[in-house]
Amino acid sequence: MENTIVKTLIFDKHVRLLFVDNTKLINEILSLNKITNKILKLILGKTLSVVSLISGTLKGDQRISLQMIMSDPKYKVFADADAQGNVRGYLNGELLKAPFDFITNVSLDHLIGHKGTIRVIKGSAMNQFTGITDMPYRNIVDDISHYFNQSDQTQTYIGANIGFGNDGRLLFSNAVFAQLLPGAPLGLIDEVKHVFNTNQELFINLRNFIGNNIEEKLSEVFTDVNVIGYSSVQFFCGCSKEMLYGMLHSLNKNDLEQAISNKELIETVCQICGRTYTFGQSEIQGLLK
Ligand SMILES: [Zn+2]
Repeated sequence: MENTIVKTLIFDKHVRLLFVDNTKLINEILSLNKITNKILKLILGKTLSVVSLISGTLKGDQRISLQMIMSDPKYKVFADADAQGNVRGYLNGELLKAPFDFITNVSLDHLIGHKGTIRVIKGSAMNQFTGITDMPYRNIVDDISHYFNQSDQTQTYIGANIGFGNDGRLLFSNAVFAQLLPGAPLGLIDEVKHVFNTNQELFINLRNFIGNNIEEKLSEVFTDVNVIGYSSVQFFCGCSKEMLYGMLHSLNKNDLEQAISNKELIETVCQICGRTYTFGQSEIQGLLK
């Protein structure tokens, strides 16, 4: 089953482990964003994969909102998720419009650079926490792990596998999130990491076992596996015509007046989901008042 988070306790309840196969979700968002460049697909795919899995650690009205800023601060990535597994994310306009020669040749490591930062806002409306960390690993996934190790003061490991075919098509995407529970031996985190890195095939196929022998399958690589629950992840933008109407204010008055005199409609596209909203004459007129 795709887009399902499996929540487990492993190693005699010493480690909380979450797993998700989010191939379908990542594919949907990459298609909506019409991204064709491989490095951009990789950046958004990895970020969304991790953020979607973190939704499984949230409760009630909690949400996580992550902003990644590259060494060149005009390049940014956004992703957020809530406890219901609603996930969205996008690359900012500068990154989407980055010069072709640069973006087709740059490596992820180089693009993030030595001054990349991650800013995370986590919590509920009443109780929010903002944290900022650097990106010493320059590969997104280990950098987000690094953030959790610092902010939660708990040994955390996040792993994500994402694979693209030669034609640029997304082949698979999955991720694990592991956190030590109080009193657990420290070495167990390294063991989870080792298992995830050396059994890629098993984790790619794991989706076929969800709801059907998942405990047995995970027991091939971990001991004392207990599945404690499932949750889903799905793309959800939450934009509305009203929100986009607000953005029309940024158009200059001449453009608006011209649209009126030419009896034109104005179309705006949501940057996150690609949905198009059309505004008619009376709505444009409303902006000129
Ligand atoms: Zn939208």
